[in-house]
This record gives sequence, structure tokens and C-alpha cells, in this order.
Amino acid sequence: MEVKTNLKQVFLPERLKEARESRGLTIRELASEIGLNTHQALSKYENGKSIPPADVLLRIMNHLRFPYNYFFGEELTSQSDQIVFFRSKANTTVKLKKIHEIQITWLIKIFNSLEKTLEFPDSDLPDPLISNKDYFSPTDFKTIEDLALKTRRQWNLNNGPITDITHLFEKHGIVVSIVKSNTASIDACSMWEGSKLFILIGNERATPSRIKFTLAHELGHYLLHQEVKKEDFNKKEVYNRIEDEANYFASSFLLPADTFSEELISHNLDYYLLLKKRWQVSIQAMIFRSKELNIINEHQAAYLWKQIAKKGWRTKEPCDDQLIIEEPSLLKDAIELLVSHQVKSKKQLCNEFNLDPEDIASIANLPIDYFDDNKALGKLITFKRKR
Ligand SMILES: [Zn+2]
Repeated sequence: MEVKTNLKQVFLPERLKEARESRGLTIRELASEIGLNTHQALSKYENGKSIPPADVLLRIMNHLRFPYNYFFGEELTSQSDQIVFFRSKANTTVKLKKIHEIQITWLIKIFNSLEKTLEFPDSDLPDPLISNKDYFSPTDFKTIEDLALKTRRQWNLNNGPITDITHLFEKHGIVVSIVKSNTASIDACSMWEGSKLFILIGNERATPSRIKFTLAHELGHYLLHQEVKKEDFNKKEVYNRIEDEANYFASSFLLPADTFSEELISHNLDYYLLLKKRWQVSIQAMIFRSKELNIINEHQAAYLWKQIAKKGWRTKEPCDDQLIIEEPSLLKDAIELLVSHQVKSKKQLCNEFNLDPEDIASIANLPIDYFDDNKALGKLITFKRKR
């Protein structure tokens, strides 16, 4: 391996910690996996108290799959106070949240790097709500409903169903990534830089209707929660409220009150199932919405919930295989364009993103071996000359 050292570049202990956490490993686990006698040494490298010797760093790089340069750079300034908004069930592990929190910063890094060469759609989002209060104050549901409709109008949408949310978001300047992760419940997070919104979803077993709802939910956070401070975000009652608000935004955006209530002419589950195919929203979200809009009363809602439980639909609803799959294409198209027009080679891009090729491929929704030209070559059949 060729190791280039730039004098201005220093070893970044934070990066070592990030690399380890991005693979979901504890200090003890990594230390033992790379054959260190004690985990204390690794702690010291991560705290910046000492610098790993070349052979140890090499083992770490290979084991965690990171390029050498990932661990070097100009000294990082203090970490920002930006909140990463998470949508996940309480049973999502801290470990997985951390992985996604790191992955979303990679998404931003990849996008920012591509943006130096290519022009992307401008961010075309309504102005977020700003109250100028230095404490958290809830937003009433009427305001949220209006904001959802305002978003639709700004994007020239009527009040009908939206099928391909990812495509719509990408067209209006939102950067979306759907990565694989081993979780039964959906896990998603979002971050923004100015008016640029980034959303990352860990999908694996998440259904299309859940993904669609989650995308709208994250947009809700951007529009409603610009001013939420970290100390408020960590308070349970504030956190619950902002989740309710983002959910309310999502259901108002996906199921506008006037058109949805007009179509809800019957309140049995079979009819909800028909509506699910049309509106691409889960039956359970539609029942919530029906109750929110007082189209059904308390008793009717309770009856429907009972039936849902009886049929086992709470965990697995029917007909998800008939909904449109959300597939981000913005970053994928951008990378393929640069490569096919020979503006940049795959290797150049990997160096610029300064990440493992498989991580880049996963975040940009490319085939996992996209950057691995050797693998591609390996697929070729070689012929031997006949004697
Ligand atoms: Zn949320």
C-alpha cells in the first residue's frame, strides 16, 4: 500500500471513534477483533492521548473498511449543536441510531462533493415556521395542516394521492438515501444545512407505506422544528410533541382533509384496503387520519382497531407488495453521469468522498460492487484457444 503523508494533515481521533461506531462495535469488541491485548490502548487513540502505530492503524482500516485518508485531515473544529431528528420505535438500539447518525453525515459529504461538479435541483421548500422564542412552543394542528397544503401548492400538486414521494422530494431539492439495515422497525433520520434537507432511511424490512409516511414525517420536522434546541429535544414531553406534530404534518400532506374525506364513503376495512392502493398510505395511518378529521367517531375507530388486531395487521398489513417502491436516484444518476462521461473515474470519486466504496454505493443506491472494477472483471468469461 502506498501511504502518502501530508504534513498539514493530522491524525483525527474523532474519526477513529466514528469509524468504529459506524460498524456498531464497542471499544472492547474492536480491540479484540484486531488483536490488541488491551482495549485501553484503543481508548487512548480515540481520546487523542496517543496515536496508533502504522501497523495497528492498518489493521483498523482493513477491519473497519475505511480508506487511510479517512483518519487524517486538518484538525476538526468543535462539533456542531445540530440535532439529528430520528424517527424510530423505542426498541431501536442506540447503536443503530448512532450508525444512521454517522451515515447521514456521509450522505451530506457525498452530496457536497458532487455539488462541486454538478448542478442539482434547487431546494424548493416553503419557509419553515419560525417563532423566535427561545423555548419550545407547540404548533397547533390547524397551522400544521395549512403548512402541508402550502407545500402541495408550492409544488403544483392537486390534493390527490402522491405515489412516488422520493422522486417528488428529489425534484424539489431534498436529498434522500434509503440504506439497508437489519432492523424490523423503521429507522430514519434527517438533518439540514440551510435550506437543504437530507433524509436517510434504514429500510431492510420496512414496508413502502411506512417509508412514504416517514419521508413526509421528516419533511415535517424540517418545516416545524427549526428552532428546537438540543436540551428541549432531549426532554421526553417535548420529544413526544414534536413527533406528534411531524406525524400530523405527514398525514395532512399525504391525505389532504377535503379530498380524503370525500373519498371515505365507507368505513369498513375492505374499503380502507382499496383506498390504501390508491393513496399509498397504510390502513392504520388512514384510520388515524379519519379519527383526526372526525370522519369516524371514537367507537368506530375502536371497532376498526380491534379488527386490525384480530387479523394480525398491526405488524403486517396486506397489499404492501402492490405499492410503488421508493427508490432514490439523484446521487446514483449523478455518479453514473460523471463516470459514463469520463468526467471522473470511480477511483477518483471514492478518493474524493474519502469513504469505503461499499458505503458510498449503499448510500447512493448503487449496486454494492459498483466501485469495485475487479469484481466486474471477474464476471467476464475467459476463453482458451483450441489446440
Ligand atoms: Zn420524528
